[in-house]
Amino acid sequence: MTRTFYIKTMGCQMNEYDSDFLAQSMIQYGLFPVDDPNHADIVLINTCIVRAKPEQKALSFLGRMNAVKKRNPALILGIVGCLAQKEGANLMKRFPQLDLVMGPRELAGIHEILKPLDSDRKKIVATKLDCGPAPRVHTPGYFAGRPTAHLCIMEGCNNFCSYCIVPHVRGREVSRPSVEILEEAKALISEGVRDITLLGQNVNSYLSKENKGLNFPSLLCKISRLEGLWRLRFTTSHPKDMSEEMIQCFREIPNLCPHLHLPFQSGSNRILKAMKRGYTREKYLELTTRLREVRPEIAITSDVMVGFPGESDKDFQQTLDLISQVKFDSLFSFKYSDRKGTVAEKLPAKIDEMEKTSRLSILQGLQREITLKKNKAFEGREVEVLIEGKSKKGDMLTGRTPSNKNVNFISDNNCFNSLAKVLIKDGLLNSLRGEAVKNE
Ligand code: SAM
Ligand code: SF4
Repeated sequence: MTRTFYIKTMGCQMNEYDSDFLAQSMIQYGLFPVDDPNHADIVLINTCIVRAKPEQKALSFLGRMNAVKKRNPALILGIVGCLAQKEGANLMKRFPQLDLVMGPRELAGIHEILKPLDSDRKKIVATKLDCGPAPRVHTPGYFAGRPTAHLCIMEGCNNFCSYCIVPHVRGREVSRPSVEILEEAKALISEGVRDITLLGQNVNSYLSKENKGLNFPSLLCKISRLEGLWRLRFTTSHPKDMSEEMIQCFREIPNLCPHLHLPFQSGSNRILKAMKRGYTREKYLELTTRLREVRPEIAITSDVMVGFPGESDKDFQQTLDLISQVKFDSLFSFKYSDRKGTVAEKLPAKIDEMEKTSRLSILQGLQREITLKKNKAFEGREVEVLIEGKSKKGDMLTGRTPSNKNVNFISDNNCFNSLAKVLIKDGLLNSLRGEAVKNE
């Protein structure tokens, strides 16, 4: 009988990439993916614990899966990713229904782990952090029909920002060999992928040891020249490592998309110092000005936090001021939450939850005004969209511009994975809406 698996993915693009890797490995092992965890023989939950909220979500999904396992004791249930790394064997004690606890650096060994798990029903805890990024598997056909894909170029992080759990659960930074990355990019393109996003916690510090110290701008150049690749993107960049050489890539590489996600976290130098971010607000403002000089149409997006320990009203005003000056295309904004084992967890002067909520709501209100104004400025303009499929309601086509704006549009042509010229009629808060321009 065919055996099946289901992977629940929570959190960031890195987790999506890891889940794609796990799914391809499991297909190669002879298992089939299903859309419903109630009909799966193996369920893996790929978790995120970067903030308190996703951690609670992961635990509540695990609670629901425990109930499924009570009804079906043959189910193999596993927790993978950052929560697995942080809690290790403790998770198995807390949730005896679990069969597998596997950290992010152990994923490459999934085949060896599946055998004893599947045939002998052995419980396994795999949480080594010193394994390098292993060669990735590629299952032919897995990406067919998908115009976009992620490609992880490095693992881990060395920055230890004072609030962040990532270096503790994803280990030290290791860059993948450039040859392997290029092979993976070619495999994606051969399946029809046209838009690739390179992933790493801090892509600017990429350095391939194998290739005489090939740095990130050189890697970008090499990948951009692959035939059939229309759009190249990357995330995340750290402002402290954003060099002039990197900025010039936006002028020199034609298929490098005009979009940069550059987290700033706070507009106050005092808070940036306490966060151990390694740059000032002045440096950040200088970078964004320079980027717009080099590529005027560039969309700049960012991450920001409110309520870091000791954040005064004045610090918060400086964050608002930076947002008003830069005018981001969009922002991911979060309330600071304590993460166990980080430096910030031990800092005094924690901010009251109500105050954090109020600051977040003021900040999001300001950003909504900016985003809407920017999107309205697209009305009457033609943009190029890579068609990804049907819109959520199914009545339009959907895709993204090079600057990463979502576009929903009416068209007679249903040709997915192709480029369309779209005339924008409405600039909305979360998307642009328009009509395909007919070829003469
Ligand atoms: N490596 C990237 C960087 O340096 O920007 C992203 C890391 S993290 C996965 C994504 C975002 O989560 C961060 O940019 C930060 O805004 C937010 N974040 C991280 N730790 C947090 C915490 N303890 N509380 C609230 N937000 C946090
Ligand atoms: Fe976390 Fe800072 Fe590393 Fe980003 S750069 S993953 S915020 S420690």
